[in-house]
Amino acid sequence: MTEASDGIIGLPEPPALGAGALPAGTYADRTVFVTGGGTGLGKAIAIEFARLGANLVVASRKEDHLEAAREALTEAGAKVRTVACDIREPAEIAAAFDAAVDTFGLPDVLINNAAANFPVPAEEMSPNAWRTVVDITLNGTYFCAREFARRHLAAGTPGSIVNIGASYAWTGGPGFAHSAAAKAGVKNMVETLAVEWGPYGIQVNGLVPGLFPHEDMTAAIKENLADKGNPAGIHAAGTHDKDPCQPAMRVGRPRELGWAATFLASPYARFISGHTLVVDGANWQRRGLVNPPVVTVRQQMGKGPFELP
Ligand code: NAP
Repeated sequence: MTEASDGIIGLPEPPALGAGALPAGTYADRTVFVTGGGTGLGKAIAIEFARLGANLVVASRKEDHLEAAREALTEAGAKVRTVACDIREPAEIAAAFDAAVDTFGLPDVLINNAAANFPVPAEEMSPNAWRTVVDITLNGTYFCAREFARRHLAAGTPGSIVNIGASYAWTGGPGFAHSAAAKAGVKNMVETLAVEWGPYGIQVNGLVPGLFPHEDMTAAIKENLADKGNPAGIHAAGTHDKDPCQPAMRVGRPRELGWAATFLASPYARFISGHTLVVDGANWQRRGLVNPPVVTVRQQMGKGPFELP
């Protein structure tokens, strides 16, 4: 790849970390509830709300993740409440919202970010794996949206929901049958709930990250990104910068997703609802003039022929 000689420059880098995409104080006196906000993209999104003056409530299962959220968000200037919560359990979600209300009042924004995922050929996936991913990613997202909306409907107050999705909601996701099906449900839910709850002042949108490597990626996802015959070899670390496999010639920077989330939930986007915004440098639209040879999921994962156990 000779970038300069071919005129290939890729999409420009965004402004530096710490730059704001909205006026300072856009979220002053507002509270944002982020599921899974102690790691990766959820944390990056929460930090951008913090920089704009929001109070943050972070809900997830593990204390070390909640501690990471407290540390990062306090450093970004926010008041923070963390709550241990498994979003598969509606009673735990209700308790987390009670805690949020006790601390800051009813959250104005819900970022439905928590999800579970790992690559596996569909024929090898256990029923339990399927159920777990669908339960967290689809059911958990709905249960959180339901809790948020019921409280706003009862109070007669407006609110904004952003569901974090994935582009295989449209395309299918070979190697991720469970997560792709769940994310397709999440995208569809955005459209339904936006219509049902719009009359009550509740916006519902989706936000889809492309490839956004970060330090908290699970070992299984990093392994999936590892170099498996990729001629450029750039995926080897799982946290790379440049990416000749994408039209943008680079990966996403987590702050770019954070800026998109803060816009979608802001007063400047009140007439946007029922929309799912893809932030991926057009990667999911990529097609070649001719198709490359098919490489099965098993081959991509370095597995031999399937055998019944
Ligand atoms: P991640 O680091 O694995 O974060 C997932 C978060 O969800 C964790 O903080 C985890 O916290 C929380 N979580 C998982 N199960 C939960 C449960 N049952 N109850 C409550 N919280 C739970 O993932 P990420 O890469 O930042 O991804 C964030 C979102 O972006 C996800 O919706 C993902 O599908 C989407 N996405 C990411 C990429 C990417 O390139 N990274 C691409 C496309 C889409 P606990 O373990 O503490 O519960």
